Amino acid sequence: MPGMLIVVVAVVFMLELIFAWLPAILGRLGGCHALPDMPYSTEEAHSVMQWLIDCDMATCAAKHAAFWTLVDAKRVTPVAGAVR
Ligand SMILES: [Zn+2]
Repeated sequence: MPGMLIVVVAVVFMLELIFAWLPAILGRLGGCHALPDMPYSTEEAHSVMQWLIDCDMATCAAKHAAFWTLVDAKRVTPVAGAVR
């Protein structure tokens, strides 16, 4: 049954690649959504936050910028200890 073992190892490797390594690599490269050329207005930041609802703020520069724009506008209060 060595063939079966090879298939299982290959499937586990592919799942690890797709769900763990690739997002980590893309995040490091700034791969989600890039920073805007100009700072967001408060209304733009609202729209961006809704548009990028599925993005992770840790890896999405656009969502990160939109969130902190709303914090500066006092529309959102970050959790205690949030780091810009
Ligand atoms: Zn994003």
